[in-house]
Amino acid sequence: MSAATIAVENTTMGTPAREYQAWNVEAIRSHFAFVHAGRTVTNNAASTQPPRELLTLQHTLVGQYENVHRGQSSASMQTTRCFEAAYDDIARFVGAPSRNSIVAVRNTTEAHNAVMYSLMTEFRDGDNIVTTELEHNSNFVPWFALCNHILPKFRRHAMLRLGRCAPDSGELDLLHPASLIDDRTKLVCCGAVANFLGTKPPISAVRALAAASGYAQPNGERRSYLLVDGAQWVLGNAVDFGCLGADYLSFSFHKMLAPFGVGVLVANERLLESSLPFLYGGKMIGDGQVFADRVGFNALPWKYAAGTPHIIGTIVAAQALRLILDLALQGGQPHYFGSPRDNDRADVAAAMGRVADWNVRLVAQALERLAAIPGLTIYGPREAQRRSPLVAFDAQGHDPLDLARALNEAGGEARAGCHCAALAHRSLGIDASCRLSFYFYNTPAEVDRAVDALAAIVAVGSGALASPRERAHAQTRPRSAATPLHLSPAF
Ligand code: PMP
Repeated sequence: MSAATIAVENTTMGTPAREYQAWNVEAIRSHFAFVHAGRTVTNNAASTQPPRELLTLQHTLVGQYENVHRGQSSASMQTTRCFEAAYDDIARFVGAPSRNSIVAVRNTTEAHNAVMYSLMTEFRDGDNIVTTELEHNSNFVPWFALCNHILPKFRRHAMLRLGRCAPDSGELDLLHPASLIDDRTKLVCCGAVANFLGTKPPISAVRALAAASGYAQPNGERRSYLLVDGAQWVLGNAVDFGCLGADYLSFSFHKMLAPFGVGVLVANERLLESSLPFLYGGKMIGDGQVFADRVGFNALPWKYAAGTPHIIGTIVAAQALRLILDLALQGGQPHYFGSPRDNDRADVAAAMGRVADWNVRLVAQALERLAAIPGLTIYGPREAQRRSPLVAFDAQGHDPLDLARALNEAGGEARAGCHCAALAHRSLGIDASCRLSFYFYNTPAEVDRAVDALAAIVAVGSGALASPRERAHAQTRPRSAATPLHLSPAF
């Protein structure tokens, strides 16, 4: 084992994976405690469940517990090697050229804020940012705050422009961003998968619009930068940052098996070189480069790693990626997890392709069964291939929150509210919906269980409160684009 190998109890090294095992969801499930706890976990778009191995790994790492880049003990150096190897793993998993493109943060939200603070000083009076009304609040509120709260304090005025989605299909209306992006658009921000309507905006078309804008960036490039929110995308698809052609890609590990607390901003290395850091302090400055009158930044990726990082979380997050490969390709037989071998891009593509296929199967079944429940309104497209493994809906005569609570009593898990997709709800004239969401450890039987429970609740009759649609119709207040944004308690 190399120094960067993580000692994982009860794990033997497998032989190189030449052939993949047949998909075996029961073998996959045997790695998760929720199965034995009797839970039907169908709220995965919020967070997924951690497999046993990752929880064990957290404890195992305590044996070499030490800070990174800050000690000469064996424990410190071993932990540093594991931590640096985690950056390499993450880069390889998403097809980034090297660890220099990786910024470890707490979550997707922090990744967006990192971009906001990094670029803040570059905005010129009259610039604009284009995002869409499909976005999670984390890909809208930072840009709203930058344009409306922060830049005006420096006497600079930038405009936030919102691309529309077609209300019936939930698809991004591409003509609209095309009319919004111009030679004053510094940044275009778009999610690869929408967390309420489940749609997948055509990122390559959005990238082409950003590339053709003609905006004069300070580094001489004439185009808009593109940020892709990958929070609902990276978890279930083979992602290649190089092919994506984006400048920034964000995602959170708690949506892909790892425990809470770590996310990533993958970024164009040249931009990370030329931009200002987002946090300042120890370790983001170069050794011997701090003087009373000047400081020099550390080399990438540490320029963007101020202060003691989430060391154990980052190491465990990278191992979560390795475990996903093992679960999807070998039913969990260890090949990558705890091993020093590089995760092979072909295996990543195969594993994530298998995850995507299983997720499509689950959501197709959910869509078909939900469509048969009288009085249910399903939001977003009906074709499973056009959406992610989540379905939001509301039921006539039922408040979504009551629906989710009743589902919980009946043994299903759902999320009700606006799912932090406030703008998309608003554009449909509703304030809340109920959402079921699946991951590759779910079974068709679990989809049935959740839908059966829902059907039984809906069949019993009207809840005390009306559905969002009914409430919206009853409202006399006209809805307009100028309505101030109300952040619900769910935000
Ligand atoms: N973007 C999307 C599309 C999401 O679904 C989420 C989480 N629901 C986020 C961003 C924010 O993720 P986090 O809470 O991990 O910052």
